[in-house]
Amino acid sequence: MLATILMKHRMDRSEAKEIVATNELKNLSNERKIQILEENYWWFNEKVAIKESIEEGSYPKIPDSFIEFIHKTPNPILTKETEILLIDFLKFKLKYTTNLYLKTQLDIINPNIQNNVIGEVEIAGLCPCCEYYSIDYGEDGFWDICSVCFWENGGDGPNHMTLENAKSNFLEFGAIDKESLNYVDKEAKRKYKKKL
Ligand SMILES: [Zn+2]
Repeated sequence: MLATILMKHRMDRSEAKEIVATNELKNLSNERKIQILEENYWWFNEKVAIKESIEEGSYPKIPDSFIEFIHKTPNPILTKETEILLIDFLKFKLKYTTNLYLKTQLDIINPNIQNNVIGEVEIAGLCPCCEYYSIDYGEDGFWDICSVCFWENGGDGPNHMTLENAKSNFLEFGAIDKESLNYVDKEAKRKYKKKL
Protein backbone atom coordinates (compact mmCIF):
# COMPACT_ATOMS: atom_id res chain seq x y z
CA MET A 1 0.00 0.00 0.00
CA LEU A 2 1.28 3.38 -0.97
CA ALA A 3 0.57 6.35 1.16
CA THR A 4 1.46 9.95 0.58
CA ILE A 5 4.15 10.74 3.03
CA LEU A 6 4.47 14.36 3.98
CA MET A 7 7.51 15.27 5.94
CA LYS A 8 6.61 17.26 9.00
CA HIS A 9 8.97 19.83 10.29
CA ARG A 10 8.89 22.38 13.08
CA MET A 11 10.79 25.43 12.10
CA ASP A 12 11.84 28.45 14.09
CA ARG A 13 10.68 31.89 12.83
CA SER A 14 14.22 33.04 12.19
CA GLU A 15 15.00 30.05 9.99
CA ALA A 16 11.67 30.45 8.19
CA LYS A 17 12.38 34.13 7.51
CA GLU A 18 15.79 33.26 6.09
CA ILE A 19 14.23 30.82 3.60
CA VAL A 20 11.40 33.19 2.63
CA ALA A 21 13.84 36.12 2.26
CA THR A 22 16.23 34.05 0.13
CA ASN A 23 13.32 33.12 -2.11
CA GLU A 24 12.11 36.74 -2.33
CA LEU A 25 15.59 37.77 -3.45
CA LYS A 26 15.19 35.67 -6.61
CA ASN A 27 12.27 37.84 -7.68
CA LEU A 28 13.97 41.21 -7.22
CA SER A 29 15.14 43.15 -10.25
CA ASN A 30 18.70 44.48 -10.25
CA GLU A 31 17.31 48.03 -10.13
CA ARG A 32 15.38 47.22 -6.97
CA LYS A 33 18.43 45.53 -5.42
CA ILE A 34 20.58 48.61 -6.00
CA GLN A 35 17.79 50.82 -4.67
CA ILE A 36 17.56 48.78 -1.45
CA LEU A 37 21.33 48.87 -0.97
CA GLU A 38 21.54 52.62 -1.57
CA GLU A 39 18.60 53.45 0.69
CA ASN A 40 19.49 51.18 3.59
CA TYR A 41 23.27 50.86 3.65
CA TRP A 42 24.53 54.43 3.49
CA TRP A 43 28.15 53.45 2.86
CA PHE A 44 27.23 51.37 -0.18
CA ASN A 45 28.15 54.06 -2.73
CA GLU A 46 30.76 55.64 -0.50
CA LYS A 47 32.91 52.65 0.19
CA VAL A 48 35.65 53.40 -2.34
CA ALA A 49 35.88 57.04 -1.26
CA ILE A 50 35.94 56.10 2.42
CA LYS A 51 38.67 53.49 1.85
CA GLU A 52 40.78 56.04 -0.04
CA SER A 53 40.38 58.57 2.75
CA ILE A 54 41.46 55.97 5.29
CA GLU A 55 44.55 55.13 3.21
CA GLU A 56 45.42 58.82 2.79
CA GLY A 57 45.11 59.29 6.52
CA SER A 58 42.45 61.97 6.10
CA TYR A 59 40.06 60.00 8.25
CA PRO A 60 42.19 59.96 11.41
CA LYS A 61 39.50 59.64 14.04
CA ILE A 62 37.82 56.58 12.62
CA PRO A 63 37.90 53.61 15.03
CA ASP A 64 39.70 50.42 13.93
CA SER A 65 36.49 48.44 14.29
CA PHE A 66 34.77 50.72 11.80
CA ILE A 67 37.66 50.49 9.34
CA GLU A 68 37.37 46.72 9.53
CA PHE A 69 33.63 47.00 9.01
CA ILE A 70 34.04 49.16 5.89
CA HIS A 71 36.58 46.72 4.47
CA LYS A 72 34.15 43.86 4.94
CA THR A 73 31.25 45.57 3.18
CA PRO A 74 30.64 44.95 -0.50
CA ASN A 75 31.66 47.06 -3.42
CA PRO A 76 28.93 49.14 -5.03
CA ILE A 77 28.17 46.49 -7.62
CA LEU A 78 25.98 43.43 -7.30
CA THR A 79 28.10 40.55 -6.10
CA LYS A 80 27.60 37.45 -3.99
CA GLU A 81 28.64 39.61 -1.04
CA THR A 82 25.74 42.00 -1.50
CA GLU A 83 23.29 39.11 -1.34
CA ILE A 84 24.06 38.85 2.37
CA LEU A 85 22.95 42.46 2.85
CA LEU A 86 19.86 41.99 0.69
CA ILE A 87 18.76 38.85 2.52
CA ASP A 88 19.38 40.65 5.79
CA PHE A 89 17.15 43.51 4.60
CA LEU A 90 14.40 41.17 3.35
CA LYS A 91 14.50 39.22 6.62
CA PHE A 92 14.18 42.47 8.54
CA LYS A 93 11.12 43.39 6.46
CA LEU A 94 9.48 40.15 7.60
CA LYS A 95 9.31 41.36 11.21
CA TYR A 96 5.79 41.26 12.68
CA THR A 97 4.57 38.81 10.04
CA THR A 98 2.49 36.02 11.53
CA ASN A 99 3.82 32.48 11.77
CA LEU A 100 0.90 31.45 9.57
CA TYR A 101 2.05 33.84 6.83
CA LEU A 102 5.59 32.43 6.98
CA LYS A 103 4.17 28.91 6.87
CA THR A 104 2.09 29.65 3.77
CA GLN A 105 5.17 31.08 2.05
CA LEU A 106 7.22 28.00 2.97
CA ASP A 107 4.42 25.78 1.63
CA ILE A 108 4.65 27.58 -1.72
CA ILE A 109 8.45 27.28 -1.80
CA ASN A 110 8.44 23.59 -0.94
CA PRO A 111 5.03 21.88 -1.02
CA ASN A 112 6.52 18.51 -0.02
CA ILE A 113 7.40 19.59 3.47
CA GLN A 114 4.71 20.40 5.99
CA ASN A 115 6.27 23.18 7.97
CA ASN A 116 4.99 24.36 11.28
CA VAL A 117 6.52 27.73 12.11
CA ILE A 118 7.08 28.30 15.80
CA GLY A 119 8.37 31.14 17.90
CA GLU A 120 6.98 34.37 19.24
CA VAL A 121 6.14 37.18 16.85
CA GLU A 122 8.03 40.41 17.58
CA ILE A 123 5.94 42.99 19.49
CA ALA A 124 4.45 45.34 16.91
CA GLY A 125 2.51 48.57 17.11
CA LEU A 126 -1.09 48.84 15.99
CA CYS A 127 -1.83 51.06 13.00
CA PRO A 128 -4.60 53.41 14.17
CA CYS A 129 -6.14 53.47 10.70
CA CYS A 130 -6.39 49.88 9.41
CA GLU A 131 -5.85 48.25 12.84
CA TYR A 132 -3.24 45.76 11.71
CA TYR A 133 -0.16 45.17 13.85
CA SER A 134 2.07 46.49 11.10
CA ILE A 135 4.30 49.21 12.58
CA ASP A 136 7.00 49.52 15.24
CA TYR A 137 5.82 49.45 18.83
CA GLY A 138 5.54 52.57 20.98
CA GLU A 139 7.76 55.57 20.30
CA ASP A 140 9.72 53.66 17.68
CA GLY A 141 6.55 53.56 15.62
CA PHE A 142 6.09 57.33 15.47
CA TRP A 143 6.24 58.42 11.82
CA ASP A 144 6.17 54.82 10.61
CA ILE A 145 4.18 54.42 7.43
CA CYS A 146 1.84 51.44 7.50
CA SER A 147 2.37 49.11 4.55
CA VAL A 148 -1.25 47.91 4.74
CA CYS A 149 -3.02 51.29 4.39
CA PHE A 150 -0.21 53.90 4.01
CA TRP A 151 -1.23 55.90 7.10
CA GLU A 152 1.73 57.73 8.63
CA ASN A 153 1.67 57.24 12.38
CA GLY A 154 1.94 60.90 13.28
CA GLY A 155 -1.61 62.18 13.43
CA ASP A 156 -3.74 64.02 10.87
CA GLY A 157 -1.05 66.57 9.87
CA PRO A 158 1.44 64.48 7.88
CA ASN A 159 -1.40 62.54 6.26
CA HIS A 160 -3.20 65.70 5.15
CA MET A 161 -6.51 64.23 6.27
CA THR A 162 -8.33 63.19 9.41
CA LEU A 163 -7.95 59.70 10.80
CA GLU A 164 -11.71 59.25 10.39
CA ASN A 165 -11.46 60.08 6.71
CA ALA A 166 -8.53 57.72 6.25
CA LYS A 167 -10.36 54.92 8.05
CA SER A 168 -13.43 55.24 5.89
CA ASN A 169 -11.30 55.36 2.72
CA PHE A 170 -9.43 52.25 3.83
CA LEU A 171 -12.72 50.41 4.36
CA GLU A 172 -14.04 51.60 1.03
CA PHE A 173 -11.09 50.91 -1.27
CA GLY A 174 -8.11 49.68 0.77
CA ALA A 175 -5.83 52.67 1.40
CA ILE A 176 -6.00 56.11 3.04
CA ASP A 177 -6.53 57.70 -0.36
CA LYS A 178 -6.62 56.66 -4.04
CA GLU A 179 -3.01 57.71 -4.71
CA SER A 180 -1.67 55.62 -1.83
CA LEU A 181 -3.11 52.51 -3.46
CA ASN A 182 0.04 52.59 -5.62
CA TYR A 183 2.28 52.30 -2.58
CA VAL A 184 0.56 49.85 -0.27
CA ASP A 185 1.88 46.30 -0.14
CA LYS A 186 -0.88 44.19 -1.69
CA GLU A 187 0.23 41.21 0.39
CA ALA A 188 0.34 43.11 3.68
CA LYS A 189 -3.14 42.13 4.89
CA ARG A 190 -2.04 38.51 4.78
CA LYS A 191 1.21 39.26 6.59
CA TYR A 192 0.08 40.89 9.80
CA LYS A 193 -2.31 40.16 12.61
CA LYS A 194 -5.44 42.27 12.71
CA LYS A 195 -6.85 43.64 15.94
CA LEU A 196 -9.73 41.40 17.02
ZN1 LIG B 1 -2.52 50.78 8.50
